[in-house]
Amino acid sequence: MDALPYLQSHPPRCVAGFNCQLIDLPEFPGDVRNHCDPGFEFEDYPTCPETAYRLLCPCGSSLHYIHGYHFTSTEGKAPVDLFVGPHFLECAACGKQAELLDLEKHGYDAELGHGCYSFRSCGTAGVFECQTCGRQPSETLIIFSYSGVEDLLASPDEKTAGREQDLFDWVTVGATCAKCSKLQRVTDYECA
Ligand SMILES: [Zn+2]
Ligand SMILES: [Zn+2]
Repeated sequence: MDALPYLQSHPPRCVAGFNCQLIDLPEFPGDVRNHCDPGFEFEDYPTCPETAYRLLCPCGSSLHYIHGYHFTSTEGKAPVDLFVGPHFLECAACGKQAELLDLEKHGYDAELGHGCYSFRSCGTAGVFECQTCGRQPSETLIIFSYSGVEDLLASPDEKTAGREQDLFDWVTVGATCAKCSKLQRVTDYECA
């Protein structure tokens, strides 16, 4: 069963505060994925149905400040600077704030009551900063990955039926800087 038409017409509930524009999957050239799981291996990245959205404020603006926590993980071989959740967006035009992602509530494990294994609320609260320009608003993209979603759609049970779009197992946030137009990875999480 092809899950994409369903997923592409059902954005997850975590982005309900935005007008979601379906976009082609973006690429992050030359970028080492900033990952919030110290056991992560690059080969772990999935090939599975994925959806990507550009997020607009209800006021129509596409430019936001992305809020989260700047945190340096020392669990790996070398310290890694991470940007961890919970995340919310602040519209650069009207100032409206809306929740974007909280791994205690969103994604496969949290939705099904399995807990949250990601760094969360660690470090210093702040906004994502462009590598070149520093603090700038950006167009925000979010990419959801769904391993095994075909099975969920083919044989739904009462815990998953109608919620398949919320059961993503990876999520990536990207930002296109309003000043230099560079697309950068903000953060990503394994959620299952
Ligand atoms: Zn706005
Ligand atoms: Zn920039």
